[in-house]
Amino acid sequence: MTKQNKRTFVERMAEKLGLIPDLQGDRQLDLSRVANEGQLTSYPPMEQWDDWTEYEATEHPKRTKRNYTIVPTTCFNCESACGLTAYVDKDTHAIRKFEGNPYHPGSRGRNCAKGPATINQITDPDRILYPLKRVGKRGEGNWERVSWEEVLEDISSRIRKAIQEGRNNEVAYHVGRPGHEGYANRVLQAWGVDGHNSHTNICSSGARFGYNLWYGYDRPSPDHSEAKFILLISAHLESGHYFNPHAQRIIEAKMKGAKLACMDPRLSNTASMSDYWLPTYPGSEAAVLLAMAKIILEEGLYNRAFLENWTNWRAYLKAQHPDAPEVFETYIEKMIAEYSEFTPEFAEQESGVPAERVREVARAIGEAGERFATHNWRSAASGNLGGWCVSRALHFLNVLTGSVGTKGGTSPNSWNKFKPKFFDVPPGQKFWNELHFPNEYPLAFFEMSFLLPHFLKEGRGKMDVYFTRVFNPVWTYPDGFSWMEALADEELVGLHIAMTPTWNETAFFADYVLPMGHSAERHDLNSYATHSGTWIAFRQPVLREAARRAGKTVEFTYEVNPGEVWEEDEFWIELSWRIDPDGSLGIREHFLSPYRAGEKINIDEYYQFIFENTKGLPEAAAKEGISELEYMRKYGAFEVERHAYQKHLTKLSDEQLTGTTTEPETGIIRKGEKAIGVIVDGKAVVGFPTPSRKNEFYSQTMVDWGWSEYATPSYIKSHIHPDNLDKERGEYCLVPTFRLPTLIHSRSANAKWLTEISNRNPIWMHPEDAARWGFQTGDLVRLNTDIGYFIDKVWVTQGMKPGVIACSHHLGRWRRKQDAGNRWGTNTVHIENNGQGGWKMSTISGIKPFDSKDADSKRIFWTDGGVHQNITHAVHPDPISGMHCWHQRVRIERPHADDQYGDLFVDTAKAHENYKEWLKMTRPAPGPGGLRRPLWFKRPLRPQEDLYYLDNKTDE
Ligand code: SF4
Repeated sequence: MTKQNKRTFVERMAEKLGLIPDLQGDRQLDLSRVANEGQLTSYPPMEQWDDWTEYEATEHPKRTKRNYTIVPTTCFNCESACGLTAYVDKDTHAIRKFEGNPYHPGSRGRNCAKGPATINQITDPDRILYPLKRVGKRGEGNWERVSWEEVLEDISSRIRKAIQEGRNNEVAYHVGRPGHEGYANRVLQAWGVDGHNSHTNICSSGARFGYNLWYGYDRPSPDHSEAKFILLISAHLESGHYFNPHAQRIIEAKMKGAKLACMDPRLSNTASMSDYWLPTYPGSEAAVLLAMAKIILEEGLYNRAFLENWTNWRAYLKAQHPDAPEVFETYIEKMIAEYSEFTPEFAEQESGVPAERVREVARAIGEAGERFATHNWRSAASGNLGGWCVSRALHFLNVLTGSVGTKGGTSPNSWNKFKPKFFDVPPGQKFWNELHFPNEYPLAFFEMSFLLPHFLKEGRGKMDVYFTRVFNPVWTYPDGFSWMEALADEELVGLHIAMTPTWNETAFFADYVLPMGHSAERHDLNSYATHSGTWIAFRQPVLREAARRAGKTVEFTYEVNPGEVWEEDEFWIELSWRIDPDGSLGIREHFLSPYRAGEKINIDEYYQFIFENTKGLPEAAAKEGISELEYMRKYGAFEVERHAYQKHLTKLSDEQLTGTTTEPETGIIRKGEKAIGVIVDGKAVVGFPTPSRKNEFYSQTMVDWGWSEYATPSYIKSHIHPDNLDKERGEYCLVPTFRLPTLIHSRSANAKWLTEISNRNPIWMHPEDAARWGFQTGDLVRLNTDIGYFIDKVWVTQGMKPGVIACSHHLGRWRRKQDAGNRWGTNTVHIENNGQGGWKMSTISGIKPFDSKDADSKRIFWTDGGVHQNITHAVHPDPISGMHCWHQRVRIERPHADDQYGDLFVDTAKAHENYKEWLKMTRPAPGPGGLRRPLWFKRPLRPQEDLYYLDNKTDE
């Protein structure tokens, strides 16, 4: 045991008492805290889950016993999918509360505030309980209750007609909070539509693009708990993807002596827990990281073996230094020369972080070597023009230290994520939808979803059947009034179906609002890269499982859910079956039971098949004498693999090597055209899924697609770089990319506990900046964006970097007088349109107590719901990654005479002009060979390969 990770007496005692985790033992599952009867317990013992008695807390000090059946499921309030256990009252059949599931390998029994708050969402008096159809004009706010039968008939016949007429590109499914591990994709491919659209380009495609260029994987999976040095370009101790699972492992590492560094212009909770807070000017992160890379190279702190074996340095030298000797030493020499500009002093000039601090952190990273864990998800990569350079530069540090795929290092996400085997896999669709992947953005990592209203307005196509699923672009996306205009126009959007567990601003502009279950009210399969290891978790409708345990038969989940709340999985099966009533469209065949010939599959069979084909699960289930499905119903999760390091070294089997050829110069092993592995150190191994099968310091892809200036890791000055701001006019960078730890993207306003904790989003401003304008905390400020303005209040705080301002998203939810829902957290607003693209929103009232079956609704004491800033943001599509660059150039003004808190204005004509300006920066397809997109780039819902060529428009 090293001195660093020697435990103190207090720590040893705390471990024994279960107050902190066992710092030395196996922490994969924290079952030590599942105590036996009679002991104090953190979790009820599994053998009592079906018969658990507790005293009713609300009746204290009276000792009233409540008898529960405890059913595991997973949380849906961020992507982490932490384990939950639902306490279902055996007498009333109602869910009373949610706690953590200790059998979940990712969350290990722990949750953030949003997990237990699931009960608020379930019992929200404003929730939608029945399918609704609009009455009157779209967006007017009038609805009538309809039956699921009517919904299915109407929608299925419309989709059938579109498919029969070859209008497959007019059917689309647009997902906000995903999940489902391929479920919806399978459905869409069964229909033969290129209809997947996602929120990813307002979320993570910037980071994904940078990672993908390096190693063909688009997300990192840091092994935090084993790291010696952790560098976060995010606020992972409080928010962000996998934050609860990550946060607990980061703290474990810190308790063992690891150092933590964090880049963030805000003193976030994460920054405050860091050993090194690097308050970088937004957009300068890549410059700082490249300066660190240069120090590691110059000071010889790099991992020679990894660089030599696992980067494509020979290709780099051949392409950029053809006259230099092709030896490893030249590679190092040329890299140092390439980054000569990136001195710590240059990093300081760009970022404001002292040069000495940059040196210190770089050396600490070099010393950590292979135990260097990093993470960038949204944050800087999603805020800036060229934000993808941040993750690329960050991964460069992992490459230099050889910490790619190591214990305590950073692995590709896919190594720690489960891929289910489906009972049926439809072929790739024969359509390419240019509304999702337009030619201007051939490298865009995901669909250009936030430009959809502009594409529709330009006449590039239309949507005949448009599903939005847990997706709220009117509120979440930039430029929401352009969305409102498009959604309100029946010529552009024929039928809009909002599938949602709760009311939202986009659902107000739907034709059907279909109530879908919250996390504990539907099926889903989850697997996320929370650590080095792979797990699956089963999100199950807990009342259905409780009914099954009580001996009742349930055919459809809506039979046990409140009202007629259904679930997506069963809805898609029923809808697909009806689209193709006689099987002539070839759709039905993809929804047949694998167990009952010729019959429609049911939801149990769908998951049963996956679980039967999950490595290790049949054996685990057999040990208990139960089926795989029963095992997952009982535990809610299963650990598929405990550790996952160095998977790139997996040897190719004899069978895989049969019929292959090997390129002598590069060692690339091909089967036909396709590279399947590489020879390294004389061994045939799988390597990484890039053209070179290695980490690509030099990207031929960038060269081939017209971006040769970014062939190697680079720094692009952001659109909000100080050079692009007129400080004299009061222009600042607004950072809108952070959220408060207790908020969900656009589903907090139905959770009373969360709204009570966080309900306003003022403008963070450093005292120096506040003094310049004479602002004090609480003063109104007008922030002018490129397309409008919003009025917010100032919060003067030293926790903000001088010269930058910030405003949390996830607040400023609204409804109009005629709209329902979310009264815990929405302002009531009035919206006016001048008919020429000018939209004005003003707040009529803040949040008020209201009458409902929940007595707490009368106790609401908060009045402020925050300000909707995103709707005033212009779209900023990065011309390469396609990511919306969230940071805004804003001009600060003191409020005008009539300005009221919460007022905002947007000119959608200006918004469209702004979109066209950014469009000019693109370098459209075709690429080499007439391609629309590099073949080796992943694409959601991958169509048939010939569609990758621009000449092959669709299957006409
Ligand atoms: S981290 Fe995410 S999944 Fe886990 S409890 Fe919190 S909101 Fe739920």
